[in-house]
Amino acid sequence: MSIDPTRATAAQMADALASGETTSVALTRAALERIAATDGDAEGGIHAFLHVDAEGALAQAEASDARRAAGAPLSPLDGVPVAVKDVLATTGLPTTCGSKMLEGWVPPYDATVVARLKAAGLPILGKTNMDEFAMGSSTEHSAYGPTRNPWDTTRIPGGSGGGSAAAVAAFQAPLALGTDTGGSIRQPGAVTGTVGVKPTYGAVSRYGLVAMANSLDQVGPVTRTVMDSALLQELIGGHDPLDSTSVVEPLPSLVEAAQQGATGDLTGLKVGVITELGGDGYQAGVRARFTEALDKLVAAGAEVVEVSCPSFVHALAAYYLVMPCEASSNLARFDAMRYGIRVMPESNDSPSAEAVMRATRDAGFGDEVKRRIILGTYALSSGYYDAYYGTAQKVRTLIQRDFDAAFESVDVLVSPTAPTTAFKLGEKLDDPLAMYLNDLATIPANLAGVPGMSLPAGLAEEDGLPVGFQILAPQLADDRLYRVGAALEAALEKEWGGPLLDQAPEVATLTSTEGALR
Ligand code: GLN
Repeated sequence: MSIDPTRATAAQMADALASGETTSVALTRAALERIAATDGDAEGGIHAFLHVDAEGALAQAEASDARRAAGAPLSPLDGVPVAVKDVLATTGLPTTCGSKMLEGWVPPYDATVVARLKAAGLPILGKTNMDEFAMGSSTEHSAYGPTRNPWDTTRIPGGSGGGSAAAVAAFQAPLALGTDTGGSIRQPGAVTGTVGVKPTYGAVSRYGLVAMANSLDQVGPVTRTVMDSALLQELIGGHDPLDSTSVVEPLPSLVEAAQQGATGDLTGLKVGVITELGGDGYQAGVRARFTEALDKLVAAGAEVVEVSCPSFVHALAAYYLVMPCEASSNLARFDAMRYGIRVMPESNDSPSAEAVMRATRDAGFGDEVKRRIILGTYALSSGYYDAYYGTAQKVRTLIQRDFDAAFESVDVLVSPTAPTTAFKLGEKLDDPLAMYLNDLATIPANLAGVPGMSLPAGLAEEDGLPVGFQILAPQLADDRLYRVGAALEAALEKEWGGPLLDQAPEVATLTSTEGALR
């Protein structure tokens, strides 16, 4: 059986490469053609990519094919193309973080995860669009224009990693990397019908990830299947001496966990439904798909109980103190002296350094970034530090204790990933609080450092758009996400007669490729 070069899963592509049925050059070229045909800025174009590196990707593909022909050692995903969120440093390729501030910046080094992709022979197709400095839930805060949701191009693809999720959902790339500080891998996964994983904090290196909030940020996979995420996380994960928070001990095998889960047997597994996540404020279709997915887990042999995590109701408030505090301090490095753009103040012949910084930061940062810098600076200022930052850190401890207590009685916790399906572009742009509420269910995992996965649970009947199912596990037990996720995926796909993305409408093929191959 021959594979479709863009619709196949990464695992299928790897098999087809191994059997000699296809080449990395053929797969990479197919992906680049698909990007050129569907990604333009024009109405209906996805705009998942900020930069496409056709030449570099094809050269990496040729090298992979040559190694295979020579019988050299190969990685499990050797030759399978991948897209990378534009917040990860890439030698020789622009890294803008979706901000004007870093327009034109080309890093002199690779993030560890990028170096690992390259060492494993995965051609890098390009850099994906994102909310500026990863702040947002819709990718509308990108300084380079929004990404559109492949299911309905008048809607948002989630954020901040909407570009990675949309690229995978639109069959432009089989694999992508995202980053998740409060939900930026999982929430875009939910609203685009893709799989997204935030690994245990420290399980994947943050070296070369432009920091938003160091204590919350994690790199993770964005794929179309649970198995593909397992393959990708195994490849990018593991200890890195360049990241001081990197976990030394290895995780249990994720691929084996996914294989075990795919048999559909969850006998003996205890699943906790989080009381505080999923009730009021969640769209009816989201709740319906979530409940049906629970039935599938029961049918697979799992026991489902309800578990209360009372402090989770304060997670959003705590996050919107901890995150802006860390972000305001991180973004202080954009001072017009060392990185990125420099804007000279008008009508001033010999401006002070401070005046140059002010003019640069005024022009370089968008409104959402400025809002968070102000929030963080205020909360950290003397006199307010204990009341805001200190209190938020205490809430964080309470949330960790809720997780600890819950995991004494259950193996995994579950909830809907996001309260609604994809909303319309523009709908929440002027209402920061409404935007923040999208991450209600994803944020607790970041505050506690535990791993989380979102996978497709079906379509909401009221709008026909994808719904995400979230699984959370204890720290370092990422394998449980893959076991449960693979079992649920197998049960649901049996009912759907195939992957959920097969039900997505075909993205308009654009006549002009201008804008896609930047
Ligand atoms: N949407 C959340 C925020 O705006 C999470 C972002 C993220 O995970 N990078 O902060």
